[in-house]
Amino acid sequence: MPFEQPRPTWDEYFLMLAKLAATRSSCLAFPVGAVIVKNKQVLATGYNGPPTGAAHCTDQGYCYPGLSSCDASKIMPSRAVHAEANAIAQAAKHGILTDGSSIYVTLEPCLSCLKLIISAGIKEVFYETSFNSGESLLIRDSFVKDGLVTLKEIHLSEITAQRATTFLLKPTSVAKDNRVR
Ligand SMILES: [Zn+2]
Ligand SMILES: [Zn+2]
Repeated sequence: MPFEQPRPTWDEYFLMLAKLAATRSSCLAFPVGAVIVKNKQVLATGYNGPPTGAAHCTDQGYCYPGLSSCDASKIMPSRAVHAEANAIAQAAKHGILTDGSSIYVTLEPCLSCLKLIISAGIKEVFYETSFNSGESLLIRDSFVKDGLVTLKEIHLSEITAQRATTFLLKPTSVAKDNRVR
């Protein structure tokens, strides 16, 4: 039986995993997911939300009272740990080497996360949506120019996204249709 649809590329595969991780985000700010990968193996995953054990913004209904985002206050520090930082922390917690790995994120890392990524030895960043602008962009580009890290914007093809949607909406491993292993 022929394959009705192509398999996702590795980049698409890991971006989809990052998107799934993002569904677990527990901050009212936009959902973000991250997956650290080395040699096509997943090392760690993360999503944005307050530190382990702290109240989830989504559970209490606000980030800070009156604020809809952990990053919205000019005076209060962000409650949320960003997805990339959480993935790196998860690796650290479980003693997993991140040196020489890559990270897939649904949103381009902020400068704090990018610095953390570089210092964790993560060499490649693949992101879906751009984030940095203005002076942040200049600093980001200086890191790239110095050869510390590479960044690449990637997207799911329509056919991959549709196929994944079908898999999510219906039982996946049914023999009677065209989905071949
Ligand atoms: Zn929040
Ligand atoms: Zn960040």
